[in-house]
Amino acid sequence: MPSNPIHETFLNGQPAKAPFLETPDGRQMSYAQLRQEVAQTAAALQSEGVTPGDRVLCQIAKSPEALVLYLATVAAGGVFVPLNTAYTPAELAYFIEDAAPALLIIDASTEAARAVAEVQNLRCVTPEALKAAQVSPLAAPVPRAPDDLAAILYTSGTTGRSKGAMLSHDNLISNAKALCDHWQFTASDVLLHALPVFHTHGLFVATNTLLLSGARMIFHGAFDIDQIAEDLRRASVIMGVPTFYSRMLADPRFTRESMAHMRLVISGSAPLLADTHAAFEARTGHAILERYGMTETNMITSNPYLGPRRAGTVGQPLQGVSVRLATPDAQGIGGIEVRGPNVTRGYWQNAEKTAESFTADGWFITGDLGQFDEGGYLSIVGREKDLVISGGFNIYPKEIESLIDALPEVEESAVFGVAHGDLGEVVAAAIVLRAGAHLDAEAVLAALGPELARFKLPRELRFVNQLPRNAMGKVQKAELRKTFEGETP
Ligand code: ATP
Ligand code: MG
Repeated sequence: MPSNPIHETFLNGQPAKAPFLETPDGRQMSYAQLRQEVAQTAAALQSEGVTPGDRVLCQIAKSPEALVLYLATVAAGGVFVPLNTAYTPAELAYFIEDAAPALLIIDASTEAARAVAEVQNLRCVTPEALKAAQVSPLAAPVPRAPDDLAAILYTSGTTGRSKGAMLSHDNLISNAKALCDHWQFTASDVLLHALPVFHTHGLFVATNTLLLSGARMIFHGAFDIDQIAEDLRRASVIMGVPTFYSRMLADPRFTRESMAHMRLVISGSAPLLADTHAAFEARTGHAILERYGMTETNMITSNPYLGPRRAGTVGQPLQGVSVRLATPDAQGIGGIEVRGPNVTRGYWQNAEKTAESFTADGWFITGDLGQFDEGGYLSIVGREKDLVISGGFNIYPKEIESLIDALPEVEESAVFGVAHGDLGEVVAAAIVLRAGAHLDAEAVLAALGPELARFKLPRELRFVNQLPRNAMGKVQKAELRKTFEGETP
C-alpha cells in the first residue's frame, strides 16, 4: 500500500479531540485541526507548483503555521527547508541558490526577502496566502519511501558556512521513536516549547517526539522568562538550551515547589556547565537530563531517564545508535563517530563534504571530540576545529575552561586559539565574571599556574560582559577569535 511514512507515523492515531497545541494568547489547535490544516496547506502547496522531491524554503517567524508547513510540505511529497529568521537577505540569496527550491515562504513583513526571490525568479508566498487559498484539502498524502527526503536542515554555521543536511523520513521517525521511548513520553505529557522551530531541537526533537506520543504543547513564540514562569505550572516537560536554565536560575520564581509537578527537564544543543546542573538540582530538585545531537544525525546520546544523570556528560548512545571514538589519545579522547538509522546520507549538493564526513566503513564523523567514562557515559571535550595547536602541542579548550569556570568569581569562559607567528596558535580566554565580582588577569593566571603546563596558559586574556551566542546558545568562538586577533600583535 502506498504511504507517506512521516504523515502516517506522526499524524495518525491521536484521538481527534486531543489537544495538540495552545499559545499564551489563547489559541488552541486539536489534532483533528492540525490534520485538517496540514491537508489544506498541502493542497495549497501543490497548487503553488510543489511536486514530489521539491524543496520548500521557509523563513518565517516562529508560529504554529511553521509546524503546519513542515508537515504539509512532507504530505505533499516535498522537502522542508526551514531557515533561521536571523539570516539577512544576502544570506537568504545563498540558501536559495544552494537549495534550489520550488517555492519560498516568507512573512508579509519581509519585503527585502521578497525582492531577493524576485531577482532569482522564485515563487514566493506568505503563510496567510497559503491558508486562504481556495483549494480542496489533499485527500491523501503523496506516497513516499522511507529513504526519501523529508527535510534539508542547514547546520548552525558555528564552524563555517552552514551545510544542508539531508534528512529522510526514516531518519526522523527512527529518532523520534528512540527519544519517545527513552524519555517515556505519553499522551498525557504537556511540553513547554520555547525553542526556535528552524533548528533540529525545536523542530524535530520537540515536535516529532510530541506528535508520536500524542501529547500537547504550550507553544511560546520565543523564550520569555515571565511566560515560562506562568506556563511551567501546567507543563510536565521542558526542552531547552543551557541558557534557558541559567536564566531560570537567576530568577527566584523557579523553586522546588513551583516545579514539583514536573516530570522532566531536558537540555541540549550546547554544553551545560556542570555548575548549572548542580545549582539547578539544588534549587528545583530536577537533575537536568542532558543529551547530545547534531543537525546531521538527529540525537545521538542521552542521559538516562531512570538511572543517574551525570553532570558534564551527555549520557549513552540511544537505542539503535552506535558511537565510537576514532584514535583515542592517552587520555582516551578521540573523534566521535556515529552510525545508525538517524544519520544523514550526506550534505545536499555537496558530494565533497559528504565524502569527507564519512569513514571508509560508513561511520559519520561528527567533528566533536569525546571521552567515555567507566559507566559508558560520553563527555564532549570540544570540537576538533576548536582544538588549539600551539608549538605542536594539542590543547583542549574544555580543560582550561573548566579550571577557569571553577574560580568562584567566574560565571563562564571561552577558550580558543588565536594565530601566533612563532607557535602557530596560542591560547586565548574570554571570561565573564559573576555580578559584582572582581578578578584580574594576573589572579587568573596565578590560579591556573599550578594546574596547567605552561604552554596551555592563556597568552591573551580578557574580561567580557557576555559571550557571543547564537539562537541555540552556542558560543561563537569564531567571532571571539576575530575580535581577539584584531588586536594581537
Ligand atoms: P556547523 O556544523 O555549521 O559548524 P553546528 O555544529 O553548531 O554548526 P548544529 O548541528 O546545530 O550545528 O550543532 C551540533 C553541535 O552542537 C554538535 O556537533 C556539538 O558540537 C554541539 N552540541 C550539541 N549538543 C551538545 C551538548 N549536549 N553538549 C555539548 N555540545 C553539544
Ligand atoms: Mg556541526
